[in-house]
Amino acid sequence: MAENCIFCKIIKGEIPSVKVYEDEKMVAFKDVAPAAPVHVLLLPKEHVENIVACPAPLLSHILGKVELIAKETGVAEKGFRLVINTGADGGQTVPHLHIHLIGGKELGWPPC
Ligand code: AMP
Repeated sequence: MAENCIFCKIIKGEIPSVKVYEDEKMVAFKDVAPAAPVHVLLLPKEHVENIVACPAPLLSHILGKVELIAKETGVAEKGFRLVINTGADGGQTVPHLHIHLIGGKELGWPPC
């Protein structure tokens, strides 16, 4: 856990969230400012700053839950997008690795 990390505070229960999945290694909760009808963040409970710093088995564990969470949130059939913003140019605003799972409508491309 990192002090002053908003996502660590959510994991500890100090800040409320709407959880859609949780296990011993990760949590998924609804984004507070959704970009689409379904917008969920998947993240490790361990404070890992970004995808580059994330051990491969932990990343693999999180990605292994994508199908389940997509089904739970109702986007598995029509599709969805995963986004991992990394660093300043990548638009990462919270330095605790999180994977955006976005769907529930036809998404535009390119994203920038
Ligand atoms: P990023 O810009 O990729 O770092 O994404 C950070 C995301 O965290 C944004 O989509 C925010 O809307 C979301 N966010 C920030 N604070 C909270 C919160 N308290 N609960 C849920 N989502 C949050």
